[in-house]
Amino acid sequence: MTHNEFVAHIRERYSDLFDPTNSDQDWQYLITVGPGWWPLIEEYCQRAEASLRDNGEVGRWYIRQVKEKMGELRIYLRPAPYERIEIDGFPEIVHDIDPPQPTPVQEALSDLRAEIVGRANLTCEECGEPGGLRVIDGWYRTVCDRHFAEWQVRKAGR
Ligand SMILES: [Zn+2]
Repeated sequence: MTHNEFVAHIRERYSDLFDPTNSDQDWQYLITVGPGWWPLIEEYCQRAEASLRDNGEVGRWYIRQVKEKMGELRIYLRPAPYERIEIDGFPEIVHDIDPPQPTPVQEALSDLRAEIVGRANLTCEECGEPGGLRVIDGWYRTVCDRHFAEWQVRKAGR
C-alpha cells in the first residue's frame, strides 16, 4: 500500500473523524507518518470513532493532523469549529470552547492517544518492528536497528 492509498483508505473509512470541508490539498498534509505507524493510526481511528459513537459525540471532534515531531507520533484532535444547535427553536451557531472539566469522551480520547503514542515510541516508523528513539546530529527518529543503520549510512553519505 502506498502512502496515498493509506490516506485515501483512512479518509473514506473514518470520514466521521475528519472535517468534511477538508480539501484534497488539506488531505495531502493531514497524515504524514511512515508505514510502520500506519497500523497504530488505523487502531486509533477505529477506537476513537467507537468512543465518539458510544458518547454520542460523532462529528464534534476532528483529527486535524497526524505527524512525526522530534521522533514522536503526534495526533492533533480538535473540537469541531462550531456546532449548530437550537435555542428556543431557533438555530444558533455556537463556537466551541473548552469546558472547564474534561468530559468523559475527552478523557477517553486523551487516554487512547497516550496509549497509541506510547506504543509508537517503541515501534519503527519505517517498518513497524520494535524500535526506539534515535538521534543523529540533532535529528530525531523512532526506528529499529536496521533502519537506524540505513539512516546512519544515508547521513554519512552526505
Ligand atoms: Zn525498521
